[in-house]
Amino acid sequence: MDTDTQSTVSDEPPPAARANTLKQFSPAGRGFWSAVADADWNNWHWQLKHRITTLEQLVRLMPTLSPAEYAGTQLANHKLALAITPYFFNLIDPADENCPIHRQIIPRVEETHTAAWEMSDPCGEDSHAPVPGLVHRYPDRVLFLVTDRCASYCRYCTRSRLVSNATGYDFHPHFDQQIAYISEHPEVRDVLLSGGDPLLLSDEKLEHLLAQLRAIPHVEFLRIGTRIPIFLPQRITPELCAMLKKYHPLFLSVHTNHPRELTTEVREALGRLADAGIPLGNQSVLLKQVNDDVTVMRALVQKLLMCRVKPYYIYQCDPISGSAHLRATVAKGLEIMEGLRGHTTGYAVPQYVIDAPGGGGKVPISPEYVLSRAADRVVIRNYEGKVFEYVEGARPAPRYKPSEDFVVPEVV
Ligand code: SF4
Repeated sequence: MDTDTQSTVSDEPPPAARANTLKQFSPAGRGFWSAVADADWNNWHWQLKHRITTLEQLVRLMPTLSPAEYAGTQLANHKLALAITPYFFNLIDPADENCPIHRQIIPRVEETHTAAWEMSDPCGEDSHAPVPGLVHRYPDRVLFLVTDRCASYCRYCTRSRLVSNATGYDFHPHFDQQIAYISEHPEVRDVLLSGGDPLLLSDEKLEHLLAQLRAIPHVEFLRIGTRIPIFLPQRITPELCAMLKKYHPLFLSVHTNHPRELTTEVREALGRLADAGIPLGNQSVLLKQVNDDVTVMRALVQKLLMCRVKPYYIYQCDPISGSAHLRATVAKGLEIMEGLRGHTTGYAVPQYVIDAPGGGGKVPISPEYVLSRAADRVVIRNYEGKVFEYVEGARPAPRYKPSEDFVVPEVV
């Protein structure tokens, strides 16, 4: 073997071996907290109380912090606060600045670099809020923001103007006004509770809200958007699940970006929710050097099914101010969708969407499978690139005649 060839051999395991490794379930471990009693470690209040929230704590736990991260963390409290639960911190590989968990949660100085087209409210939520904390952008459903707090803060958060209150947004939901608006709008049949993270509310407070919403006759469907099962699986107690199951139909959307986030603890927490009859979906954000890789995303969606969660959306990362270093390209998103559709179970294939900047709502983005259309037929391709013709119409129709500049692909 010549030396040139030898030097190009990659240390990367083959994709199948890598995917199998990514799909293994492991516990997060105790890391620095090995002396903590089980009763404390498994208590969600203990986890919240012991979050890493300061530069001093972070430097002590991660002496390998890079200059860009050090500077980013110094500035975080003016943009989006730093907070990481001890449980989730244990998923970080501190020695690897490109660790996919690390990149999602440790601030970087690039967060202060903003481009002219970036926005603090890319989904135009504030301009679609008839009362504080209630966004009515689609005809039959509303977004009900219940808190500005999360268990940990994601550095690409589309609501970073609001969550953690680092920018002084001073979010104060007015539950009475929000509920009154929904009661007075019979077209609202679907309410999505979000924030911040609704599962940070106490069981009692959350139940009070759910009960009021369930009492509104035209509200057919309730949803909760949460990253708590991933950041803080200890919160998914049997008591919480027993309370939630009283308010069916209630769906829950979790937010997972990388298969390493799906630990044995998370699988158990999601299992408790599923056992309570709660349909579970997952929303991922496409992030550079986190999950912009077909092998990673395929492992994630397959692992989600093993956790009884239907992959629901992959979001193109919103143009939130200071997120350029985390945004992957749309071309990469399309490549990932191409690598999922047909290559794995249909249930595992989420919809890839761009939230149209400025408040246009979610727009599905897909690789092109329709090659041409005529009145009586469509020419399509499958996941292998093979081309087929589907003829429509009950009566024989004139043969489709492509335009002169259309090269007719070989039909199988
Ligand atoms: S959990 Fe959701 S709302 Fe909270 S910081 Fe992460 S993306 Fe934002």
